[in-house]
Amino acid sequence: MAITIYNTLLRDKQEFKPIEDGKVRMYVCGPTVYNYIHIGNARPAIVFDTVRRYLEYKGYQVDYVLNFTDVDDKIIKRANELGEDVFAVSNRYIDAYLEDVTRLGVKKATHNPRVTNTMQEIIGFIDSLVGKGYAYVSDGDVYFKPRAFDGYGKLSHQSIDELRSGARIQIGEKKDDPLDFALWKGAKEGEISWDSPWGKGRPGWHIECSAMAKKYLGETIDIHAGGQDLTFPHHENEIAQSEANNGKSFANYWMHNGYININNEKMSKSLGNFVLTRDLLENHDPNVIRFFMLSVHYRHPINFSEELLESAKNSLERIITSYQNLEHRKVSSTNLDKKGQEWLDKIDVYKQRFEVEMDDDFNTANAISVLFDLTKEANVYLNQDHTSDKVITRFQEMIHGFLEVLGVTIQNEESLLDEEIEVLIVERDEARKARDFTRADEIRDLLKDKNIILEDTPQGVRWKRG
Ligand SMILES: [Zn+2]
Repeated sequence: MAITIYNTLLRDKQEFKPIEDGKVRMYVCGPTVYNYIHIGNARPAIVFDTVRRYLEYKGYQVDYVLNFTDVDDKIIKRANELGEDVFAVSNRYIDAYLEDVTRLGVKKATHNPRVTNTMQEIIGFIDSLVGKGYAYVSDGDVYFKPRAFDGYGKLSHQSIDELRSGARIQIGEKKDDPLDFALWKGAKEGEISWDSPWGKGRPGWHIECSAMAKKYLGETIDIHAGGQDLTFPHHENEIAQSEANNGKSFANYWMHNGYININNEKMSKSLGNFVLTRDLLENHDPNVIRFFMLSVHYRHPINFSEELLESAKNSLERIITSYQNLEHRKVSSTNLDKKGQEWLDKIDVYKQRFEVEMDDDFNTANAISVLFDLTKEANVYLNQDHTSDKVITRFQEMIHGFLEVLGVTIQNEESLLDEEIEVLIVERDEARKARDFTRADEIRDLLKDKNIILEDTPQGVRWKRG
């Protein structure tokens, strides 16, 4: 079965056909790194990682690029407030981003380019646009002229005149038309800057993605993805820059994820209802957060509340309990009678059902329903008098395989229970008091092997799962 993707460019679903057989070139717009990420940033990280996982499940080799905007107005402002170097700020929040999303089960990207490491390609790209007449130099700045590009507005489905009426020239901008946008900004006094043919300065935001996509994936890519809020102007501008310069279609499929609301309200600075991913991870299992995010189709808005997260936790526990019940019933018999074969055939139907849902624009919400039905079926099977390990294993493989596509991991049977950890911590503490450092270190290493991180605080030892 073929995958269909809702393509924002067409406002319709379309069969997915990659440029090259068996390979997918995918670009996802990453964060501007001036703070810890909130859960609105975690959503695209999780949903597009799931898209990638499913494409890999279907046998594609996926080149996945996610950029870091590591120099821009917000980062410079933040660095000034903190009295720090721009690089110190951006490096800290890049590390924090990677730490957060890794805990959420997001696979490592093939490439994570940064603006400051792509400067030559960005400058070359701008220079080429100036040469081709799509951009002009104005007193140390360089601006792109959307009016020179036929097709501006095609992604956000707006005419150039509609867009013109909403555009304004900001103070300090030296452009001819309010629609024009900056490719290069001349340096202000005391700001970090790079040399260019137009004098010292730094790139505008949009140009980095055009330059990075070209550098790592080529002139035409398969999938370009990001949050719905990026459709205009960011993605519209990326298309204009890339297609004007390369003379080719930029991305064949444009995917956008929906917003996150907090307790049915829009998440905003003024409402003070920002939820940092990091804070959420302090108190919740990352698997539950991920499972919650995927319980709604990626294009729909998702409402976040502690109650909904709790309900996701209960749902996931039901699946995991079913998996563990299967495990406990093993070693009975491997003989497969006629009934056993019928069960195997029955289980295979769930694989098809799961794929039908995921093929349909990555409908994780429905795919999770299939997973529930499968675990119900497993519970029915375990009520039989005679079970076969072969059937049990097939159930487990299927549950495990679906969860892997969703990026949710089942905690290993050998992992420690909270109570066992507490006991070991007390034992280690006593060993240290008795100056038995060998035993204390042994316990520390044992916990480390099980991915338990210990922190010595003035209030005593605290621990968390790594
Ligand atoms: Zn971008």
